[in-house]
Amino acid sequence: MHKVILVVLDGLGYQVAHDCMGFMQALVERKKGRMYRIECELPGLSRPLYETLLTGTHPLDSGITHNQVIRKSNQQSIFSLASKAGLKTAAAAYYWISELYNESPFDKIRHRYSVTPGKPVQQGIFYYADTYPDSHLFSDAEFLRQQYDPDFLLVHSMNIDDAGHHHGCNSVEYRHAAREADNLLSEYLPIWLQQDYQIIVTSDHGMNSDCTHGGVTSEEREIPLYIAGSAFQLDAEPAISQLDLCGVMCTLLGITQHGKPENRDILA
Ligand SMILES: [Zn+2]
Repeated sequence: MHKVILVVLDGLGYQVAHDCMGFMQALVERKKGRMYRIECELPGLSRPLYETLLTGTHPLDSGITHNQVIRKSNQQSIFSLASKAGLKTAAAAYYWISELYNESPFDKIRHRYSVTPGKPVQQGIFYYADTYPDSHLFSDAEFLRQQYDPDFLLVHSMNIDDAGHHHGCNSVEYRHAAREADNLLSEYLPIWLQQDYQIIVTSDHGMNSDCTHGGVTSEEREIPLYIAGSAFQLDAEPAISQLDLCGVMCTLLGITQHGKPENRDILA
């Protein structure tokens, strides 16, 4: 039974993560973590792939096939499974997470700060501007962690994706947003690792030079998957997919019979 933090850096492609995120690479070089190159499921869009990451369900099976499907998920999510198991959940995330798992449609006054023990996301701070600073988002997440001691915490940033939509993947702005996220991770990950959290840092999809994503080019589809923590197997060379992560997180949390695909190759 472990505590788990999932960091989703929206819109971060593999190559820019590899090239620009020196703190994360330090964890890899010092064998405190691993980095994998994985392919996002299709279509490579945010809302469908939040659902994939958090429920282990392919967009064609979840029905969340595009970003304008504004309804609650009808799948069992890491939030609902953890809540049913008596665990504590929290999220600092874009408001689409609230729409998928707590309240749909999102009301920016009533739902931004959600102290909702009866909902799948029991404690939430949801932002609704793509320019909401990642620095503030990480503060929100760390506040939730310190205040509520969640067993599962989602940290979901948007500035990399936003920079990509304005400037494309080959821009200074996009790379700088990735570097800023790496800086923030360098501030918080050492604390979380010291307190023995199991940490997954990944993305929903990448970004192309047309300032968008959703297709099958490597820039859009290849994303990083970092793992760090004492419960991970760092020597394996597993074939792992985005669909496996929900099951992996359930196993880490000690949730049995979760019914999700999983990949034990990355677990110690
Ligand atoms: Zn996007």
